[in-house]
Amino acid sequence: MRALIVEDSQMSQAYIQSLLAELEIDTVCASDGLSGVEFFQQEGPDLVLLDIVLPDIDGLEVARRIRKGERPGEWTPIIFLTARTTDEDLEAGIEAGGDDYLAKPINPVVLAAKLRAMQRIVLMRRELDAANRELRRLSSVDGLTGLANRRQFDYTLQNEWMWGQAQKQPLSLLMCDVDFFKLYNDNYGHPQGDECLRQVANALHEALKGPKDLAARYGGEEFAILLPNTGPDMAMMIAERARESVAALKMPHALSPLGQVSISLGVATRVPASTHTSDRLIALADRALYIAKHNGRNRAAQAVVGTTDSKSA
Ligand code: GH3
Ligand code: MG
Ligand code: MG
Ligand code: MG
Repeated sequence: MRALIVEDSQMSQAYIQSLLAELEIDTVCASDGLSGVEFFQQEGPDLVLLDIVLPDIDGLEVARRIRKGERPGEWTPIIFLTARTTDEDLEAGIEAGGDDYLAKPINPVVLAAKLRAMQRIVLMRRELDAANRELRRLSSVDGLTGLANRRQFDYTLQNEWMWGQAQKQPLSLLMCDVDFFKLYNDNYGHPQGDECLRQVANALHEALKGPKDLAARYGGEEFAILLPNTGPDMAMMIAERARESVAALKMPHALSPLGQVSISLGVATRVPASTHTSDRLIALADRALYIAKHNGRNRAAQAVVGTTDSKSA
């Protein structure tokens, strides 16, 4: 735990430092308001003890600037130090973003008690933040494969569809489906089926290179790959790479004519337009996938831009 002391009196500074040292709290000191704000940003302390009367900007303004610079979800307790506390001072301090007051001369027992209370709140907030981050992560990840889940995919597709409209850039979607997977389950059992899905997911993930490319579990044994700023030729190349990446697993599948696990892919590319929703892209990719299946599986088929047909590759 580290505290920032903003206090212009050297004597007070030294006294507070010694009290905090007894509580095993490290300190960094600033002697005026502007360096207080600067030190806060540089050091990221866990607590601020802030004198109100300072040579440059006053403590209230320091508190305001500190609060303004905090990111959402961040919060560092600020305790004002002041010789006189009227109700109005208290109100102004809380209004400026402070959390508590400590009257000068500082009583060590009161200081220790207030610090304990603040420490408790800081720890609680940290735990809450960590729990929130974990929940956000869990709500966007598929539990079986670790890829983005359907929810995250829908959200990203929506965003990319809007972004593509603004940028007039093509957006490509690959719908991938494991071939003869019902037979795989029937033959090897459900747990091995799950393991197969994990490996396929991994292979798809490996096949992607762009920082904005997203592989997601769309549902069951279907995966979706979203490729922002990607035209039809590149999308088809990536589809082929994904297909090869799964083939390279060489996972035995005795009931498939190929003897190993394979996927079929439907590829669609559109420059997003406000005349259609993103469902249009999914419908095109689905239709292309159907054609890839129909033409023998273990292949990619592409929805030809601007028409309703698809060609097989
Ligand atoms: P096709 O080549 O036409 O795609 O045939 P298919 O057998 O793969 O297609 P179908 O839709 O008939 O079967 C999909 C199977 O995927 C059926 C279902 O039991 C299985 N499946 C879906 N989700 C999971 C899962 O999470 N784990 C396992 N092990 N199997 C799953
Ligand atoms: Mg002062
Ligand atoms: Mg399917
Ligand atoms: Mg299938």
